[in-house]
Amino acid sequence: MSSSRPAIIWFRRDLRLADNATLLAAAASGRPVVACFIFDERSESLGSAGRWWLHHSLTALRNNLAERGVRLILSRASAVDTLEMLVQAVDAQTVYATAVPTPEGSLLEQSVADRLAPAGVRLHLYGGTVLFDHQSLKTLQGTPYRVFTPFWKACLQAGVSSEPCAPPHRLRSHSASIDSDALDDWGLVPDRPNWARDFQPFWAPGEVGAHARLDAFVGEGLRDYAELRDRPDLDGTSRLSPHLHFGELGPRQVWHRVQTEIALRAASARGGEAFLRELGWREFSYYLLRHWPTLPSEPFRPAFESFPWRDDELALRSWQRGQTGYPIVDAGMRQLWSRGWMHNRVRMVVASFLVKHLLLPWRSGAAWFADTLVDADVANNSASWQWVAGCGADAAPYFRIFNPITQGKKFDPAGDYVRRWVPELAGLSTKYLHEPWTAPSRDLADAGIRLGHDYPRPIVDHAAARQRALRAFDAIRG
Ligand SMILES: Cc1cc2nc3c(=O)[nH]c(=O)nc-3n(C[C@H](O)[C@H](O)[C@H](O)COP(=O)(O)OP(=O)(O)OC[C@H]3O[C@@H](n4cnc5c(N)ncnc54)[C@H](O)[C@@H]3O)c2cc1C
Repeated sequence: MSSSRPAIIWFRRDLRLADNATLLAAAASGRPVVACFIFDERSESLGSAGRWWLHHSLTALRNNLAERGVRLILSRASAVDTLEMLVQAVDAQTVYATAVPTPEGSLLEQSVADRLAPAGVRLHLYGGTVLFDHQSLKTLQGTPYRVFTPFWKACLQAGVSSEPCAPPHRLRSHSASIDSDALDDWGLVPDRPNWARDFQPFWAPGEVGAHARLDAFVGEGLRDYAELRDRPDLDGTSRLSPHLHFGELGPRQVWHRVQTEIALRAASARGGEAFLRELGWREFSYYLLRHWPTLPSEPFRPAFESFPWRDDELALRSWQRGQTGYPIVDAGMRQLWSRGWMHNRVRMVVASFLVKHLLLPWRSGAAWFADTLVDADVANNSASWQWVAGCGADAAPYFRIFNPITQGKKFDPAGDYVRRWVPELAGLSTKYLHEPWTAPSRDLADAGIRLGHDYPRPIVDHAAARQRALRAFDAIRG
């Protein structure tokens, strides 16, 4: 079909040209297109680290589109108003967008569709953010899955059949001159202070950077992923999470790339399957959020509504700043601040420490992660926090309390991770590194450490905190 009435492409969390069904549909319509991105904070939340990423990702998308002769219009107003205005300005007949499968995303889609409908304009929504059809996946009883393994089995059975698609050969750009915000005016990148200064050398936001990361990981990391994925001292995971969150890479592209690698090299099979299973956890988080939209705010297990969480601003701040006195926890929190990312094993340890050792609400931890992670994602973040807290679907039992000392020794055996992120402990021998308060004063002095001055003493005693957490759990069990 070809028509001269233009179409609007509304970019959202699909900041890519390849394997983008929305873009392909718009191109196939033959209509001239107007491409836009709307940063509507009233409708969709984005934390500070995510804003930094968004700035760079939009810069990359804008340049990629410009190479194809298409200008990216930017607006920071209401998405509903902006789309209505654009439709009127160019007399568009359709709006194409990729669905954002979150409660906020669906609500916005409904509002846009309702606003445009009276003018006879349709909002066409496409998939691509997740791999499977979460609406149709159900247990034999017809209820949504609550447990990961059978869910994942059903996904694997359903299969990911179609191959990823190339970017459209040609996009016809609409010629009208339309006002656009200047990206720099949005102030997404911090200055004074520029707390994101260490992000730049570590990340390459945008579609090109996403593919480079995928290539590097498949080439170097996939084979040993199953063995190394739990080691924060090694570079054993893909670090694709922010690229996936912003849709610079679709999960289907990752899926097929890994499957191809497994087919080519048998040695990659174990690592590849372990890796795809992690993508499965991403699917499960989105699935849970779809079927339980209160996941970000309410405990999945209602018994936890009466959990006796503490209110302790000082303890929360010590945790946020990496000053708890437990080296593996502090290393993780400082990695998060410095890089906008933290290794998954350490995310579990620090989250467990907050909710069990400090008895602070998981929502406070989730809020801090939402603000400081470049991959902050309402589905993964809420599901993971609830999982660690013991109140989520298929969650670790509450009484399984991570010991931050043994976790440190097991997953950072030579102490490289702690030494890197907690440099004030760097001179301490590995024997005491994960529990510096047990080091003889001589060893501390030789390493130049005065506990309580250069590095804090533990803000809680592990054994006592564990007992307190178990008592609190007993209280809700009745
Ligand atoms: C308390 C807590 C909060 C978390 N918050 C987020 C968040 O806001 N955003 C986010 O993307 N992930 C979150 N995770 C999940 C996980 O830690 C990250 O996805 C992972 O560390 C990202 O690094 P990677 O890309 O190198 O992962 P890899 O190990 O290379 O995994 C590949 C991909 O699989 C997905 N994935 C991996 N582990 C998980 C998991 N446990 N749950 C869901 N998806 C997973 C991610 O998309 C990841 O990019 C959280 C985990 C915990 C314990």
